[in-house]
Amino acid sequence: MLPDEDHVTDDRWQAILTNDAAQDGQFWYAVKTTGIFCRPSCKSRPPNRDNIRIFHTAEQALAARFRPCKRCKPTGERLPDEEWLAVVTEYIDRNLDKDLTLSALASVCHGSPYHLHRTFRKVKGVTPVEYVQGKRMEKARKLLADPKLTVAEVGRSVGLPNPPYFITLFKQRTGLTPARYRETNTNVQGGVSP
Ligand SMILES: [Zn+2]
Repeated sequence: MLPDEDHVTDDRWQAILTNDAAQDGQFWYAVKTTGIFCRPSCKSRPPNRDNIRIFHTAEQALAARFRPCKRCKPTGERLPDEEWLAVVTEYIDRNLDKDLTLSALASVCHGSPYHLHRTFRKVKGVTPVEYVQGKRMEKARKLLADPKLTVAEVGRSVGLPNPPYFITLFKQRTGLTPARYRETNTNVQGGVSP
């Protein structure tokens, strides 16, 4: 029996898990959560099976708006740095509460930590970790405007579940503790009576 053409069959799943180079050219797989597609032999972390889409040519994957993986170069061409970093920053912006260490990011976005760090700094002028912290603080400032959220809850929502650590980082970046920032912000808005 022929397998369903676009289905993640057990054979294909096995090929992805074992980075089976013999399957390269037979199919390509895209990961819906990252928007990236790969050759079966790609050494990146195996995705969740439910998030995979199978393609028979790299062109089909491109036509479906997936971007080629930086690591296994499924189209045989290099993905421009800017496009790759767009994938990385989109992922960061959507997952601020998740693990966003350099190695986690590199793994999700299919590149080595070293290469990600270097490319990011070259193109964006900041390191990935600095970028992540900046985005986290930006979101924290927005969330602190909501008086129903505790400081600890705000920290958790931006991936910093350890309150002392969150407070220290916040103060480093803004010069104020989250509580003080909230007070100041509330006074400026004038919406709350003293
Ligand atoms: Zn890949």
